[in-house]
Amino acid sequence: MSDCIFCKIVAGEIPAAKVYEDQEVLAFLDITQVTPGHTLVIPKKHFRNLLDLDGQTSTAIFSKIPLIANQLKDKLGANGINLLNNSEEAAGQTVFHTHFHLLPRFDDQDGLAITFATNQPDFDELGRLSQLLQIGE
Ligand code: 5GP
Ligand code: ZN
Repeated sequence: MSDCIFCKIVAGEIPAAKVYEDQEVLAFLDITQVTPGHTLVIPKKHFRNLLDLDGQTSTAIFSKIPLIANQLKDKLGANGINLLNNSEEAAGQTVFHTHFHLLPRFDDQDGLAITFATNQPDFDELGRLSQLLQIGE
């Protein structure tokens, strides 16, 4: 994709601060460091987002994410890691080349809050959704 900024990074046409690279996967620091060490893990091949990703590329990426996450944690002294993917505009995607954010976390000192509201579970609704969403083998 000639107009894709991440394809340009893969091709070496624009610079990036690389953390990991192999034949299929590239990881580099996000220019906006939401937390110190904020890293993007991408497939070298262009896919729009997670919804578009094929099995071989998914395997290549997810087999490397723990390695990269542990490197960030160990070298930066992080206390934890968030893995985040935004797919489509409704989910906040702004660069339309699949990428996974790895966000090192530093106890309560990094200013980032990712919270899930807690409410009373509706078990009837959970049952209905689970029926709807069944995927057979
Ligand atoms: P999204 O919102 O699509 O999940 O995330 C896109 C991310 O790409 C943003 O966090 C943004 O800071 C990052 N980004 C955009 N352009 C560049 C770039 O040219 N180089 C790097 N390293 N990161 C970029
Ligand atoms: Zn691309």
